[in-house]
Amino acid sequence: MTDNTCSSAASSIKESFALGDRQRSDACPGVRAMHEATDGYIGRMRFAGGHVTADQWRNLAQLATTFGDGDIHLTTRGNIQIRGISSADQTGFAEQVVHYAMSPSLAHDRMRNIICSPRTPWLHPLAHALDDALLATPATATLAGRTLFALDDGRGDMLHRTPDMAAIATTALVNADSWRDTEFRIVLGGNLTDYIATGEEIPQVITAVATRWAAIRDALWRIGEDTSGEKYQQLVEVVADHAATTTKAIGNDHQWANATDANTPSRENDIIDRFVGWHDEPDGTVTLGAGLPFGKLTATAAELLATAECTTTATCWHTVMLYGLDEAVAEAVVKAGSLHGLVFDRHSPRLSITACTGLPGCEKSLSDVRRDAITLMQQGDPGEYPVHFSGCQRRCGHPAGKYVDYLATSDGEYEVTEPAPQ
Ligand code: SF4
Repeated sequence: MTDNTCSSAASSIKESFALGDRQRSDACPGVRAMHEATDGYIGRMRFAGGHVTADQWRNLAQLATTFGDGDIHLTTRGNIQIRGISSADQTGFAEQVVHYAMSPSLAHDRMRNIICSPRTPWLHPLAHALDDALLATPATATLAGRTLFALDDGRGDMLHRTPDMAAIATTALVNADSWRDTEFRIVLGGNLTDYIATGEEIPQVITAVATRWAAIRDALWRIGEDTSGEKYQQLVEVVADHAATTTKAIGNDHQWANATDANTPSRENDIIDRFVGWHDEPDGTVTLGAGLPFGKLTATAAELLATAECTTTATCWHTVMLYGLDEAVAEAVVKAGSLHGLVFDRHSPRLSITACTGLPGCEKSLSDVRRDAITLMQQGDPGEYPVHFSGCQRRCGHPAGKYVDYLATSDGEYEVTEPAPQ
C-alpha cells in the first residue's frame, strides 16, 4: 500500500459532498426495496433508537445464516443490514423479517431512522413512542430514506450527526420512567431551535414537523439541503404553532443536561468517545460497550449477545451497548465476545480505523479497502484522529467529525488527507 500524503482540506472532499442528483430516488435499502451490490442484495432493517432485544439478535443471526453472508452489518446510523442475499431469496428474506415483526410498516420502511444517545437506555421508550407516532401518520411514509431523527440525552453526541429532526435533553433523565417529564430542546436540520417540549409531547411535535417536511421538501432529502432557508423557516413555524399547547420558547438560553466543557454539543464537535469497554453503574450493574471492527458481527456473536438477555443498543459508531448486567454475566460476555470479534478496548486500532465495503462487495471501489485498512491496523496506533478508507469519492460510512481520509486512487494506492489544523 502506498500513501501519497497530500495537502490539507482537500477540494476533492468538498466536491464529493456536493448535493447530488435529488431528482432520483435515494438508494437507501430497506427490507423490500433492496440495494444490489456485487456480493448480492442488501436488506436493511431499522430499530427505533437502535433498541434490539435478545430475541431480535437471535432472529438476525437466523437471517444472516439463512439468507446472507453469515454476518450482521451495522451502519453508521445504527441500522442493521444483511448482505449477500440472492435474487431468489429476496422475497423470502422480506417475508421472514415481517414474520419476526421487525418491519412494522413496509410503507414507512426506509424513513424510520431514529438514533439515540447510547449511554441512556431510558430514551428507548421515547424512541418507540416517536416511531409509533410516525407510523400512525401515512404522510410521513413519503419522506426520503436519508431522513434522520435523533434523541439526545444532553451529551450532544447525537447533535453532531446533523439530524433532520431531533430533541436534546435540557433536564436530566434520572430513571426509566423520567422520559415523559424530561424537557427537550427541539432541533431542526442540525440546528437548535428556541423551543422546548416535554418527552411526553415530543412525538407529537416531531411528527407534525415531519408531516410538513414531507409536504414541502420537493426533491430535497435532508432539511440541511434547503440552502434558501425558506422551508426551514416553515418548519420552525410548525414548532412555534405548538407553543400554545406543547412547546415553549426559551430564546437563546442554551442549556442541556449532561454537557461538560469536553462535550459541549456542537455540529462541529464530533464526540468520538464511543463508550467502548466496561462501565460500573451507580446501581451496581455493569454496562458494556462492544466495538465491532468494520461494523461486522458474526451470527455466533449475535447469539452470544442474545444469551445475555439484556437491553441493548446498536449504535452509530459500530458498537453495541449492553445494559443492566451483573458482574459475572459481564465478565462472561467480555471473555466469550473477545473470542468472537467483539472489542472491549476503546483504544484498539481495530476500532479507530474504519472502511467502506470496497472490493469485492462494491464494484465502484478501486481497491480492497478493508484489506488495506487491516494492513494499517497491524502497524499499530494510527494517531490522534480516526482513519477512514474509501474505495471511491462517495466515502460511505465515513466518521461524522474530523478524520484522516484515505481515498483509493487504484489498487492499494491512496490519496491521504489529514484534517485541517484547529
Ligand atoms: S465509498 Fe464507494 S467504493 Fe466504498 S462502498 Fe461506497 S460506493 Fe462503494
